[in-house]
Amino acid sequence: MSKKILAINSGSSSIKFKLYLMPEEKLLISGSAENLGSSTSQLSYKTDKTNETRQIPLKNHSEAIDHIIDVLMSSGVVKDKSEIYGVGHRISHGGSYYTHAVAVTPEVEKRIDELKVLSPLHNPNGLAGIKAFEKFLPDAKEVVTFDNSFHHTIPKKAYMYALPYEFYEKYQIRRYGFHAPSHQYVSEKARELFGKEKTRRMITCHLGNGSSVSAILDGKSVNSSMGFTPLAGVVMGTRCGDIDPEIIPFLEEELNIDSHEMRRIMNEDSGLKGLSGISNDEREIESAAKNGNERAQLALDVFVHSIQQYIGAYTTDLDGLDTLVFTAGIGEHAAYIRSQICKNLDYLGVKIDEEKNKNNELSIEAPDSKVKIAVIPTNEEIIIARDVMNVTQQ
Ligand code: ADP
Repeated sequence: MSKKILAINSGSSSIKFKLYLMPEEKLLISGSAENLGSSTSQLSYKTDKTNETRQIPLKNHSEAIDHIIDVLMSSGVVKDKSEIYGVGHRISHGGSYYTHAVAVTPEVEKRIDELKVLSPLHNPNGLAGIKAFEKFLPDAKEVVTFDNSFHHTIPKKAYMYALPYEFYEKYQIRRYGFHAPSHQYVSEKARELFGKEKTRRMITCHLGNGSSVSAILDGKSVNSSMGFTPLAGVVMGTRCGDIDPEIIPFLEEELNIDSHEMRRIMNEDSGLKGLSGISNDEREIESAAKNGNERAQLALDVFVHSIQQYIGAYTTDLDGLDTLVFTAGIGEHAAYIRSQICKNLDYLGVKIDEEKNKNNELSIEAPDSKVKIAVIPTNEEIIIARDVMNVTQQ
């Protein structure tokens, strides 16, 4: 029998939601509550009949969820709360504990809480979302999709850091990789669209506000650019990505700041925003660069270069490359960035068709490209909804 499943994607100050009829995967309503805790908070949603934005004060995640449930009822997609069979939550960090999605239990909640040391911005908000649904929809089945679990197949040689081994044993310091629902979704979609043979060795580039690159071999993640936390890897909107670790104590001493402030600088003031001095929004930086702003151009060049470096490195993990996938806000829409990334990949046989690229087509490789190049819109929420079905139907 068909079931209504709600997928919840809680960010630090936003909640995205999608309600699906499963297993048909029919989207009934989608929306988001944004700017939580600020005077500009708002709730917007879209069904096949309406598209509305309401400016309402939303103090926190719990209040936003109360209003989201109201919207599900008032929009008519749900007549009674009991129709919502299950709720899936995306949780940032599951440490080494979970290789797959799991049903929410007090023990799972405790682990998510403990792991907030590794994901201070996201795990607490995710947990607040879980608690709010326990209160507002006590009969719905709750499931958690972890942002790192798809990467549990990364081999040990790729996830170990060369620190004293006891830190791995005692504190589980290792690479985890994140953006799992997105890398999983686009890699599965690519295999479905282009066949398993053409996608054996695949690199998926999730380029949004947060960005990461993954190496996928025969459908399994074998490396991913984010590390112990989502701060590592390629340059991001406001995050620095990989830097020489010695820079951290150097700046702490030089600026007389504590690790808390240093962490804030690396997470909020760095990346495209820090380099350009303009914004973390790729569109604004690209337009400034076109108008001759040198720092804007530099920010884009450093961003592109950091992605090329990972693509180069991951062809070693994969022993070659069959398919390159772009997804997320920048990956799906920024033709300039895709074109620049592909420029230095001639040696791999990557050849872009600029016309197809400009139109954000699904396949953007030139006829004589050895590598398939694809633009696949991500859908993290459908992975969350499928996880709810898989976990509750076992
Ligand atoms: P998040 O990680 O917050 O989910 P997104 O995946 O929405 O972020 O990506 C945000 C980034 O995508 C921003 O840098 C923005 O400039 C860029 N972006 C979004 N839409 C477009 C577009 N139509 N053209 C170019 N860039 C876009």
